[in-house]
Amino acid sequence: MMCAHCGKPAHRQLERVDNPFFMGSESSRPTDGDKYTWRYRGNKTIIRTQWHRPDGLRPWPVCVYVWDGETWDLKYHPFCSLTCGFAYGKGAVRKSLRAAARTVPR
Ligand SMILES: [Zn+2]
Repeated sequence: MMCAHCGKPAHRQLERVDNPFFMGSESSRPTDGDKYTWRYRGNKTIIRTQWHRPDGLRPWPVCVYVWDGETWDLKYHPFCSLTCGFAYGKGAVRKSLRAAARTVPR
C-alpha cells in the first residue's frame, strides 16, 4: 500500500493498548505483580511492546502497539497528503486536456 502520487509507503495503523496495572509510579505497590505479568490478550497482532526499565528493578510492559492486519495510515487514501492528491488531480486534468487537444480537428 502506497501513495498513488509520490509512492511513499503507508505505515500500519497501530493502536496503543496500555497496561491497565501500570500506574506510572512506584507507589502502585498493590498491583505490582499484575503490571509485571500483564500481557495483551486481544486478537490483534502485537507489533511492538514498550517496556519500562527502572534501574535495578524488574522491567514491566507499559503498553503494546497492535495492528488489526488491514488498516493503513494513508490519511487521504489513496494519497499520503492533500498536496499529493492535488498534484495528482492537476496532472490528470493536464493529461486529459492534452488528449482533448489532440482530438480537435485543425
Ligand atoms: Zn504522497
